[in-house]
Amino acid sequence: MTLNLSARHAWVMQSEIRNMSIECDRVGGVNLSQGVCDTEAPVEVRRGAQQAIDDGINIYTRYDGLAVLRQAIADKQHRFTGMTVDSEREIVVSAGATGALYCACLALLNPGDEVIVFEPYYGYHISTLVATQAVPVYVRLSPPDWTFSYEALEKARSPRTRAMIVNTPANPSGKVFTREELDVIAGFAEKYDLFVLTDEIYEHFIYDGRAHIAPATLPGMRERTITISGLSKTFSITGWRIGYCLCDARWSQAIGYFNDLVYVCAPAPLQMGVAAGLHALDRAYYEGLSRLYAAKRDRVCDALMQAGLQPNIPQGAYYVLADLSRLPGENSKQRAMHLLHATGVACVPGSAFYHDAAGEDLARFCFAKEDDILEEACQKIQNLRVFPG
Ligand code: PLP
Repeated sequence: MTLNLSARHAWVMQSEIRNMSIECDRVGGVNLSQGVCDTEAPVEVRRGAQQAIDDGINIYTRYDGLAVLRQAIADKQHRFTGMTVDSEREIVVSAGATGALYCACLALLNPGDEVIVFEPYYGYHISTLVATQAVPVYVRLSPPDWTFSYEALEKARSPRTRAMIVNTPANPSGKVFTREELDVIAGFAEKYDLFVLTDEIYEHFIYDGRAHIAPATLPGMRERTITISGLSKTFSITGWRIGYCLCDARWSQAIGYFNDLVYVCAPAPLQMGVAAGLHALDRAYYEGLSRLYAAKRDRVCDALMQAGLQPNIPQGAYYVLADLSRLPGENSKQRAMHLLHATGVACVPGSAFYHDAAGEDLARFCFAKEDDILEEACQKIQNLRVFPG
């Protein structure tokens, strides 16, 4: 038999996170490797979906989502960013932010187009580009503030550059792009006429008085920006698969057609649940999220510090990158495995976030966990003290 898997399949495997999870289960450890929030979904969201199921909301929705949800998304975007979005023509509800990005890449990029991605990156961004035959080109962010230079952007650009991906707040670094940095990105995107695909899924997880700035709100950016976000994290409903993109009507129809092709539509009653939540929950809910997760961040960073695994304090999102270089092992996989066997806590090796060896000293810990689970993990981590900090 000469049958074989496609060449792209090797690129889209999330093998490291999966391997850590399997080994974590085997040793009965606490899994801080996966970005799955196990906190409770708001009652308004759950009731909304239950009601929709009871009301028989069972059939396909319009390819770009139910009108009531599109309107609720437009209203929320206006409330938080000041953007005016036409809910009939400028929103595509998809199967999570992941689905929205995939459809946007299918609709806007040609095979061989280069896309600038900041590194450390979220693996799905790279896999999505590769699966759609675009080519990622990396611009390194430097700790502790994960900054970049305009020169680095210029160096990464070629005549084939067509787009950039901006993830703010970012997974895994927790970076929140500042106004000045977004100005630089906007100037660069305008100069070379690039699309900016954003991933703002952590827009409500932001700490220490920082503010999330939607790149589309910068001068000259509205038309070229595909604003991507969703409710997986904000409402703790990662399995519901509700996300969306907001963009100029020139792009949204083609993105919507690909959404129709790949997913047909997002789950109808769950769209209703999310719409109910968006209507019912006020600013206090979103501000409460930041406070809740800031406390979790502080707890896990404290435990890492006590263990001598220097954390890079995240400005947003719900991951922390820590320095594992003082643990035995030749690379980040071995060090992460050592940590799992020594403490019973699983993390993601830093190599998952870099295209070269730059992540070998790092590991990512997710703190989107219920307090008792997080506390158990923190106790285990701080008891390590192999190399007291
Ligand atoms: N974008 C980033 C940066 C993420 O970290 C994640 C989940 O970990 C997602 C998107 C997934 O979003 P969704 O569930 O809406 O597809």
